[in-house]
Amino acid sequence: MAKIFCVANQKGGVGKTTTTVNLAAGLAKVGQRVLMVDLDPQGNATMGSGVNKRELALSVYDVLLGSAGVAEAAVLAERCGYHVLGANRELAGAEVELVELEQRDKRLKQALAAVDADYDFVLIDCPPSLSMLTLNGLCAAHGVVVPMQCEYFALEGLSDLVNTIKQVHANLNRELKIIGLLRVMFDPRITLQQQVSDQLKDHFGDKVFNSIIPRNVRLAEAPSYGLPGVVFDPSARGSKAFVEFAREMVDRIDTL
Ligand code: ADP
Ligand code: MG
Repeated sequence: MAKIFCVANQKGGVGKTTTTVNLAAGLAKVGQRVLMVDLDPQGNATMGSGVNKRELALSVYDVLLGSAGVAEAAVLAERCGYHVLGANRELAGAEVELVELEQRDKRLKQALAAVDADYDFVLIDCPPSLSMLTLNGLCAAHGVVVPMQCEYFALEGLSDLVNTIKQVHANLNRELKIIGLLRVMFDPRITLQQQVSDQLKDHFGDKVFNSIIPRNVRLAEAPSYGLPGVVFDPSARGSKAFVEFAREMVDRIDTL
């Protein structure tokens, strides 16, 4: 049975997409069968996996609207070792079109059920908003991975996300929980980041992943080559941290 996780945080630019594609590549590297679902109309996770969003024959849009199955629409990102259910601007229209449909927040969940046996992990890259798209991600998932920067306002943003997850848990998806908070773009030389990191540990205890993703320019460069950092430069510090994080995820789901 596939474990399905959303990578979510209502803030933009916090490292969701970087986390999704590098965790996908890291999991593939340690032998897991992975599907990466791009739920952001910007299609960054699609492009960042080497799949051209402008040339998608079928995308997550077709899947949400029921005109294609996941198996049909997913493509193999060859160099990355995982499958991609891609997104492009067309997906922005799904928001409106979904309103007309039955069970509009469960469309992704229903579609993923058909490929449940084909993957060990499904990772969903969410857009930076609580939209119908994010809701589809949260309804489909067993848990949420929250990337966050250890900055002053990070904790404030987190309470919104925690409330959203609580509401979805209460009303739509009893299985949903926070799997963990992942500290990303971390710079240990910055005292404030250390302090916020300590506060996170105090507040959330073992909900904070042990792995820490450093700020690392190779991770930022990789998307322009259409690759996750883990594939683009496996020896970079950031890449090693993501492979370590993939191992931690595999261990953690055993204890769920
Ligand atoms: P989001 O999907 O939340 O909007 P992204 O993953 O696109 O965030 O990250 C925002 C920017 O930060 C991107 O330019 C990305 O390359 C960069 N970035 C993300 N993680 C790191 C990191 N660990 N080190 C350096 N740059 C990073
Ligand atoms: Mg993104």
